[in-house]
Amino acid sequence: MTDHTVIPAGAYPDYPAIMTPEQLQGMREKARTDPDAFWLEQAQRVHWFRKPTQGFSGSFEKDVSISWFADGELNASVCCIDRHLTEKRDQVALISQREAEGRSESLTYHDLHERVCRLANALTYLGVKKGCRVAICLPMVSEAIVSMLACTRIGAIHAVLFGGFSAEGLAERLVDSGAVAVITGNMAWRGDKAVPYKDTLDEALKKAGDNSSVQFMLVVRTSDEAVPMLPGRDYDYHDFVDHFEADFVPVAMRAEDPMFMLYTSGSTGKPKAVVHATGGYMVWAAYTMGMVYTHRPNDVLWCTADVAWITGHTSVVYGPLANGGTTMISDSLPTFPYPGRWFDLIDAYKVTMLFTAPTAVRAMMAEGEVVAQKRDLSSLRLLGVAGEPISPDAWLWYHDVVGKKRCPVADTWWQTETAGVVLGPIPGVQALKPGSATMPLPGVEMVILNSAGKAEMGAADGALCIARSWPGQCRTLWKDHERFRQAYFSMAPGLYFTGDGARRDEDGYYWITGRMDDVINIAGHRLGTAEVEDILGEDHRIVECAAVGVPHSVKGQALVVFAIPNRAAVTSVDEKDVTRLIVNLIGRYAAPEAVYLVPDLPRTRSGKIVRRLLRKIASGETETLGDLSALSDPSIISTLCERVRSQM
Ligand code: ATP
Ligand code: MG
Repeated sequence: MTDHTVIPAGAYPDYPAIMTPEQLQGMREKARTDPDAFWLEQAQRVHWFRKPTQGFSGSFEKDVSISWFADGELNASVCCIDRHLTEKRDQVALISQREAEGRSESLTYHDLHERVCRLANALTYLGVKKGCRVAICLPMVSEAIVSMLACTRIGAIHAVLFGGFSAEGLAERLVDSGAVAVITGNMAWRGDKAVPYKDTLDEALKKAGDNSSVQFMLVVRTSDEAVPMLPGRDYDYHDFVDHFEADFVPVAMRAEDPMFMLYTSGSTGKPKAVVHATGGYMVWAAYTMGMVYTHRPNDVLWCTADVAWITGHTSVVYGPLANGGTTMISDSLPTFPYPGRWFDLIDAYKVTMLFTAPTAVRAMMAEGEVVAQKRDLSSLRLLGVAGEPISPDAWLWYHDVVGKKRCPVADTWWQTETAGVVLGPIPGVQALKPGSATMPLPGVEMVILNSAGKAEMGAADGALCIARSWPGQCRTLWKDHERFRQAYFSMAPGLYFTGDGARRDEDGYYWITGRMDDVINIAGHRLGTAEVEDILGEDHRIVECAAVGVPHSVKGQALVVFAIPNRAAVTSVDEKDVTRLIVNLIGRYAAPEAVYLVPDLPRTRSGKIVRRLLRKIASGETETLGDLSALSDPSIISTLCERVRSQM
């Protein structure tokens, strides 16, 4: 593997380091020796009505209870808007680029305050109170961000739902959350495909029937198309909300009051509704934005994640706004309507920080580097990725071709459960290793457990756990504390288990090896499927691939590979080439049992590959595929089943 590539911290002369390596070390020390003092100091990054004097209380043992800053009081919308109103009243807080309409909207902090207050008044008028759940199901439009902030202003718990879910998927989540209100739009565009929102929600509410608590729906007109409205339940968002007053006194929330709930991507099974607490979440959003994104006032941050994911919550909304920056949203795609579209937007809006998913980097790569070379990308100063492992070659491509070797690449590892980055670099301060998410942030105590359940020191490989609570940790799973305890705290006493595997190298850098159930054992040899994917990812004839383990009567488990060939490549790839690459670079024992060249892979709505389904398809267990509601395009399943059957 290419873990010997090291890019020194000083390789970016134009990138100001926010601290010295000694200061970073000092933070780590302080967080270890006096965690409460350390976190109470970091808590000052946000605005409190009543400053906390208490740090952590609780335990990972027994029933598991987690509490941070318990005596503090705050309001998230105040942290994100009001506290900036004096100095930044006319600074742009939000740029919303609407691809289909070919226009964009910029809201200053003052505008944002007005819009949020009007909606807070409207929701209150309709009976929404502190603690009520409000489902937000909107495309990437300003109202999505306004809605989240308006909920937090009145203390309502938002549950942002991805609009591409099926009616079943939405119904299930609406019932589970007990939402009293829905804020939606009539439709969205995904490339040239129209995605209905309101119609799907109508169907979802019909399916949910009496089990739903939804009393009204606000509908943003996101296109000219009219949608049927149910009198007494449905309101046109702007016709209704814009009449309300542009001021609203924010509700003081106790730090531990729930701020929002959010369903995980569903890569490993039934999605979990994670619950985050107001104080700890806001501190985490501000801390990680300051440390990893090294956010500065004039930064324009474009995080391409949908607001329905944790990256959308923290890197699109709460992180950049808590730090007084400009955040950009867009409903565009990297290669639609033409390759290089994102590069043009970066130049047009002078984006300084681009954060995206490895799959988008791969999509850009597949178009070839000339597309990027022709563009002016000089406004960029930092590049980031999150969500999935990024292979060293994709990392280097992003760094060299998009960042022109001027911008550090921050590979950040986090989960819906962690609220924000927990493993990631402090750019300009730490050397970078392509493919590694660097090291835990100060205050995050990571542990690697070996197969015997023992914490390993130094270089190690095993289950990635966290030994001590951090403020951004989720507090529970909605209405299911027992599942919370089981899922995260039952693997080893006193440890939070992330579900992922990792390797720590001699320098203390972490390399995510994939989900623990993606590590396979072939005749006694442990093989991380991520390693296979890295190797294949380095071959330009392959756009993307997924490797999974299937049961094998002799070897215990065997490897099966699904790969998407690059149609634009000069030479094509066949199954034998794939096998040869793996055997040459890993070893004969890893020779795949089968290789399938496929047009696409099953993905969650957030773009992650669902290996659980590939495992079943590869082993012929197609009768028991389980819940497919999290998939972006369920039709790929039959294509893959067909391919496997025909090659058997
Ligand atoms: P579910 O928990 O429902 O199966 P999910 O884990 O995909 O879904 P998220 O919380 O959105 O839902 O994703 C977190 C996971 O994404 C991590 O546990 C990890 O497996 C993967 N991940 C995130 N960032 C990175 C990264 N930088 N490198 C490698 N993997 C990452
Ligand atoms: Mg998960």
